[in-house]
Order: sequence, then C-alpha cells, then structure tokens
Amino acid sequence: MLSIPVAAWAFFKPVRIVAPELAGLSCLDDTLCIDDLSRTREAAKLYDEALQFVDASVGAIENKPRVIFCSSDACSESFNLGNRAGMTIGTFGIVINSRGWKPFYVRHEMIHHLQNEQLGMFAAWTKPKWFFEGMAYSLSEDPRSKLSEPFEQYRSQFERWYTSVGKERIWSEARHL
Ligand SMILES: [Zn+2]
Repeated sequence: MLSIPVAAWAFFKPVRIVAPELAGLSCLDDTLCIDDLSRTREAAKLYDEALQFVDASVGAIENKPRVIFCSSDACSESFNLGNRAGMTIGTFGIVINSRGWKPFYVRHEMIHHLQNEQLGMFAAWTKPKWFFEGMAYSLSEDPRSKLSEPFEQYRSQFERWYTSVGKERIWSEARHL
C-alpha cells in the first residue's frame, strides 16, 4: 500500500508544490503561488471564492490549501499536469492549469483537498473513485450537464449515495466505503 503514494510522489514532483519558488514561481504567501504576476488579482479572487464556497456548502477546511495558478503551458508541464485542468496532491497543494481558471475547477480541487484532510492521503487510492470524483464534480456545481465517462456515472452514483446519507454524515459514511 505504501508503494503507490511513493510512486505518485515521484511522478508529480511534489517538491515543486512544497517549494514552488524553486520552479520559478512567485508565492504571495503560504497559500497562493503564480507564474504570471499580472493575473494575481484574478487568482486571489478565484481562491477566496472557492474557499468560501467549499467551507459553506461542502465542509470546513482545516488548513487552507496552497494553490499554484499556472498561466503558461511550461508551468503546467513542469507539474506533469497533462490535459488536466487541475490536480491536488494530498494536502500539500493544488495546481491549476491555464484552462482551469474557472470557479468550478478551483472548487473541484479544493474539495479534493478537503477529502484528503478528512480521510487521509491514502484514501484516494483505497476508496472508490465514484466517491472522490463524483463528489468533486457534483458538489463543486460543475455546470456541464453531461460529463465525459466515467465521470458522468461517478457523479450520478455519488448523488444517489449523498441523497441517502446527507451532508451531516458524509465523512462518517465515507470512512466505511
Ligand atoms: Zn477530480
């Protein structure tokens, strides 16, 4: 069980998330890093809105996540983002790529951060994918009426489960999945 996160650790180059300055990024504080300083206000607004949204409608975040906003492809590539709009590594941080600068994408990744806080770093590998991704797509209020598969199915499955479980019991029930 230990070998998988260690492999992911190597693959996602988390040193860049822990020390983004080493990757040539500017960090305004512990929580916000950016490659294009001219977009700082936009990034800060996305960050604050997403944090408030997740706190209020999903669950309380214990430690504010570090979010790295990439504008350039070179920045995204340095984190091995591939074609993903965003990526969350445990509770170390979140990277948003150039097409991920949208409220629902930032909320989606902050929900993954909250999941990792609540369930631990290993849960993403041991719990069902429909729970992790379905929850993030559903509760971020992703506006796409139909997602590409398997994510559409994950979202439907999560929503059926969530209706029967309810917001108050989400984490206690998730621990049994
Ligand atoms: Zn996701």
